[in-house]
Amino acid sequence: MTTLNHLDARSACISQYDPQALPVSAAQAIVLQWVTPLTASERVPLREALARVLAADMISPIDVPAHDNAAMDGYAFDGAALAAFASGSTALTLKVGGKAFAGHAFEGEVAQGQCVRIMTGAPMPAGCDTVVPQESVQVQDGAITFGPAALECGANRRRRGEDLARGGVALAAGRVLRASDIGLLASLGCVEADVRQRLRVAYFSTGDELRSPGEALEPGCIYDSNRYALGAMLQRLNVEAIDLGVVRDDPAALAATLKLAAETADVVLTSGGVSVGEADFTRTQLQALGDVSFWSLAMRPGRPLAFGRIWSGGRPGAGRAALLFGLPGNPVATMVSFYQIVRPALMAMAGAQPQPVPLVPALSEASIRKRAGRTEFQRGLAYRDSQGQWRVAPTGSQSSGALSTMSEANCFIVLAHEATDLDAGDVVDIMLFDGLV
Ligand code: AMP
Ligand code: MG
Repeated sequence: MTTLNHLDARSACISQYDPQALPVSAAQAIVLQWVTPLTASERVPLREALARVLAADMISPIDVPAHDNAAMDGYAFDGAALAAFASGSTALTLKVGGKAFAGHAFEGEVAQGQCVRIMTGAPMPAGCDTVVPQESVQVQDGAITFGPAALECGANRRRRGEDLARGGVALAAGRVLRASDIGLLASLGCVEADVRQRLRVAYFSTGDELRSPGEALEPGCIYDSNRYALGAMLQRLNVEAIDLGVVRDDPAALAATLKLAAETADVVLTSGGVSVGEADFTRTQLQALGDVSFWSLAMRPGRPLAFGRIWSGGRPGAGRAALLFGLPGNPVATMVSFYQIVRPALMAMAGAQPQPVPLVPALSEASIRKRAGRTEFQRGLAYRDSQGQWRVAPTGSQSSGALSTMSEANCFIVLAHEATDLDAGDVVDIMLFDGLV
């Protein structure tokens, strides 16, 4: 066990705090305790606001729609005329007194016994509250005739403010803006949006064996995939990602890069060097520079994880502080740790409302070995069968180094902390990788 630092001391009050076998949920809770959301905001053009975090509640300055309008092409009239059906009439005839188009209202009076030809979206003429669809009427000599078939007073009319009422909260602060939100802001007449400044996240890989794509691969070396996967995952979260390259297993180089990272970023991500191994200088450097705990998570893949703060001045309290996540080096462990531990923290720091990823129940097509006491994230390929039932099978090697089975997968099979061996046909939770928006 590491010496009791500030972080360990504060984490100790979390039930289940055991740095040597820390449940995923406890790790997530500790990490969120240390998160301080960014407060700085900026105003950006609406077209650049996608995936940014809304800085303040957006209050609707207008009613949307601005007036009652037709939901269908047809004829608008005063629904009181429908009373004729209640007293036994089998047909109602109304004289067409004018036309209303979207953008061109009918301004005249609609006398009793009259209607107005109206197109979808056109404002309802004064005195009219009901639209009979054009396909339900017969037109003859400038008049329409229709029967009682299921037309109620107020039918086919959209009410003023029905979508958004003036003065109401159209979008709440912390919203991560999606395509529909951009459209909604435009419908309120906004040309710009106030969004939180982007979180700055610096990241680098550690290891003497790493070569960057494009370099020659000498014997015993491997290509650095983590930096590219991390860069891509950060890009998806729309943070400002700062690539600090590969750092050799050299204490001075590591110290210099960590200080630079703390100077320039809000969060620092490293990969490699956090497990207990001879050449793992990252541990000692992190210990020297900051307030960092070394955890052994009850999670697979992704057991070793360093978490804490580092300071640009090279010792706790000196200079600028940044939150640090020291991720394990094995590529799939890096990705799982990022999704399960880092992602929620980055979202919270960016000021976003929590966005838990939905779990979907699925039938496992294979038996799965599972030991109680750790959460497992297996790589799975899920599909919906012809009966509408989700089914899932592991994609093959679950080695924490096998990126190919991660790439083949379209979901994680989430095996809960307490779960034990599963038979084929048992229900498991899956976490799908892709969504619609
Ligand atoms: P470490 O945690 O540094 O002991 O690394 C664990 C395993 O992950 C080793 O086999 C490393 O070679 C591998 N590894 C570490 N960093 C990377 C990286 N950036 N890209 C691909 N593999 C890595
Ligand atoms: Mg290493």
